[in-house]
Amino acid sequence: MTTSLANPSHRLANKVSIITGAAQGIGLATALKFAAEGAIVVVCDVKQAAVDAAVAQCQAIGAQASGYVVDVTQRAMVDGMVQAVLAHHGRIDVLVNNAGITQDSRLQKMTLEQFDRVIDVNLRGVFHCAQAVTDSMVAQGRGVILNASSVVGIYGNFGQTNYAATKFGVIGFTKTWSRELGPKGIRVNAVAPGFIATPILSTMPEKVIEDMVQRVPLKRLGMPQDIANVYAFLASDEAAYVNGAVLEVSGGMTV
Ligand code: NAD
Repeated sequence: MTTSLANPSHRLANKVSIITGAAQGIGLATALKFAAEGAIVVVCDVKQAAVDAAVAQCQAIGAQASGYVVDVTQRAMVDGMVQAVLAHHGRIDVLVNNAGITQDSRLQKMTLEQFDRVIDVNLRGVFHCAQAVTDSMVAQGRGVILNASSVVGIYGNFGQTNYAATKFGVIGFTKTWSRELGPKGIRVNAVAPGFIATPILSTMPEKVIEDMVQRVPLKRLGMPQDIANVYAFLASDEAAYVNGAVLEVSGGMTV
């Protein structure tokens, strides 16, 4: 059975939703969740084949979906995608600023290249995408922007000077934009996942991951769907009074 796009009982029925970094991990799970909730999904990621595969998976569950090969650090590519989506759909209802990378190293060993690349993707990329969609959201008087922070953006983490700075920064963006854009009908929130089983963890030693799991009261890593479910809630009208929030989704690891 396919999902009926017009079914108003779907929480995200016909909401035009751009999801960055949607080809794998949390972004892909979010694209599929949004698709299942009736959204019109726009997949954004860096590799054509992976974008096409994600779009096909969204379409396979009955959603309207399209894909764009965009590096969020490249402003012209971001603007090109936003203009194309507006030309095609006439509006953008939701932006999920999910794309993010790690390049870990202790402070004394971190190279400027590692520092700059993580700042570029995780901070400048979020700024590019949010700025690119905001005029149209303000014009329509509504919209939702969701930003991927991390528990590392609340508590810091060994070996993640660059990443922690960006994830703290994303919380700063969220609080600032919620103040600036709230009066214009746009809600801005951040999600701070704990440790989620995606390829981003592949560079972490097994022992470190096991220690993480022991610190989580629920005694498991999070799954991408755990985060996708929260994005779907925050994007929906059920979260109509949630603005400027940083929602930690970590199985209670920081309690
Ligand atoms: P992932 O590495 O599995 O997926 C990230 C996706 O972003 C990839 O498809 C990648 O191609 C894409 N991407 C990378 N650079 C890009 C760029 N310049 N432009 C466009 N797309 C780009 O990562 P994930 O674990 O799914 O993480 C998604 C987000 O959640 C990230 O922002 C990450 O920091 C955050 N997060 C993840 C965890 C975790 O434990 N997995 C925890 C906290 C926060």
